[in-house]
Amino acid sequence: MGQAPRQALPLSKRALLLQFGLGLLVIAAHLCWLTSSGLPRVEHLVLDTFFRQRGALPTHPAIVYIEIAEDSLQAIGRWPWPRHYHAVMAALLKEWGARAVVFDMLFSEPSTDFDDGALREALQQFPSVYLPVVLEPQAEGAAWIRSLSVFEEAARGVGHINITPDADGALRRIQPYLTEGGRTYPHLSLRIAYDYLGQPLPPPATEAGTPAGGRRGSPGGAAGGKPNTMPFPLDADGNLLINWSGRWAQTFAHYSYVDLLKSFEAMRGGRPPLVRPEAFKDKICLIGLTATGHADTKVTPLEPAYPAVGIHANVINSLLTNRFITPASRRTNALCLIGIGLLALLGFVPFRRITSLTAGAALGLAWVVIAYTLFVRQGLWLYVAHPLLLLLSLFLAAAISAVAIGAREQARLFQLATRDGLTELYLMRHFRGILLQAMQEARQRSEPLSVILMDVDHFKRINDTYGHQAGDQILKRTAQVIQSCVRTKRPNGQTDEAAARYGGEEFIVLLRNCTLDNAASKVAERIRAAVEQATFQWNQTTIPVTISLGVSTLRPSDQEPDPLIRRADQALYHAKANGRNRVSTESTLVG
Ligand code: GH3
Ligand code: MG
Ligand code: MG
Repeated sequence: MGQAPRQALPLSKRALLLQFGLGLLVIAAHLCWLTSSGLPRVEHLVLDTFFRQRGALPTHPAIVYIEIAEDSLQAIGRWPWPRHYHAVMAALLKEWGARAVVFDMLFSEPSTDFDDGALREALQQFPSVYLPVVLEPQAEGAAWIRSLSVFEEAARGVGHINITPDADGALRRIQPYLTEGGRTYPHLSLRIAYDYLGQPLPPPATEAGTPAGGRRGSPGGAAGGKPNTMPFPLDADGNLLINWSGRWAQTFAHYSYVDLLKSFEAMRGGRPPLVRPEAFKDKICLIGLTATGHADTKVTPLEPAYPAVGIHANVINSLLTNRFITPASRRTNALCLIGIGLLALLGFVPFRRITSLTAGAALGLAWVVIAYTLFVRQGLWLYVAHPLLLLLSLFLAAAISAVAIGAREQARLFQLATRDGLTELYLMRHFRGILLQAMQEARQRSEPLSVILMDVDHFKRINDTYGHQAGDQILKRTAQVIQSCVRTKRPNGQTDEAAARYGGEEFIVLLRNCTLDNAASKVAERIRAAVEQATFQWNQTTIPVTISLGVSTLRPSDQEPDPLIRRADQALYHAKANGRNRVSTESTLVG
């Protein structure tokens, strides 16, 4: 019998290719997503977690806070204070040898002549004071709010302290330079740090700086935006990621404003100071409001309430210790995504269920560990959420396709196990089972059941005349004709008939609920006539084909298919003996 292979590739290989193709599609979809909008919020949450897990960084000893906290407000009075207090503070820190003093407050409106005069004089005496400027939104555009020019002129440096949080309200970056109305200011912390290091400030980018309030984009590497001309890493939008050194209370030395003033008084009165004056020698002293309700607090990755003056301290610390967070470029993140995706494909596709789940989980965990290690050791921020989501999608795609392919494979294996390769009719092994069950059902329901056995007439001659291949095609066509004559479906989708290849050029059909007469006169005769009338073409030659048929019907004594089939065979023999191309029934034999 000819077993024509129906598929060019073994199914397992096809399934593998299908799953790889699907996996590549999933990777491509994730790449598109990553490079378009992506998931900045989720990546930010991972970054925040990394900061919290990393714990405190070593801080530069030159940075100290002088806090205007509750104790200072209670001791001195309501805010704003008369400016002669700040004048005293500047004079005191000069006396104690401070390297830089930063007032994180604006002296923008004139107050009393005495106070303003005292502050101006103190600043003139101590040219190491830094003052902020703020870009504030106005009815039209934005305008710089600055300290009075008498103070600014006496100050050593001025820098902006504008802060734009991310979409989730958390502060993660600062703008190194801010330009508005023809004026460009560096961030205050840059000015202080570069002065401290004795280095010139890096010049701002040549094109106009990013306008205030309009800088938010998705995070990503500098490769996605304009080229970075700064000596420190920037993100795609040209912003510097703040490298948080630790929680507010645990990083940098904290001193109370009022303690310093009391120390000043104590020393004037010949008593010992509350704080050691040496603690301020050569230090960068950041003076700012930190009292609850007064302080300008920000949501940061480490704490939901972090005084704004702490931002300067963290950025200065980064610049002095040369430790930054470098956001990986979009291209690097994309390459990592592709690499992880391909590795996952190798892990998910050839294995199934628990193995692939374990492989995927191990890969995801390894990626988190690698990304976190690079973050801690190198300060490199790689995307984590996108690769993890890709792993999840790949796993789901592999699992779903495995189920779908498994179902198809099962159906195909069933087909291979039950059907003849050439004619696609049932194999006898399977047909016998169907027939046995049909016989039992017929007995239970007291219904008739008949079988027709068929044999192609002079088939040997056809083979000999036209060749074996032609014979095969005739067998195939004959089977189709037989099928078309018996395929009647019941309303429930079942068929009353089943056809099988009995042997070389022999076929058998089972007819449920069908008497011998009906089987012979209706079905068998229909098949005979249909085969006779069908045209069998081979190399432009029409080959006449006929078949002989023998019909038998179920008897109460029939316990298994063999006697029933044997009687049909005898009837078939009778048909052959009586000239072929005809139908005989078992009843004709009795006589
Ligand atoms: P009769 O009318 O008496 O049935 O004559 P016949 O020639 O058909 O009978 P016979 O049993 O002598 O020959 C059957 C032939 O069928 C012999 C065998 O080579 C051929 N045959 C069996 N299986 C296949 C097949 O799968 N393909 C082809 N081409 N020939 C087959
Ligand atoms: Mg035969
Ligand atoms: Mg024959």
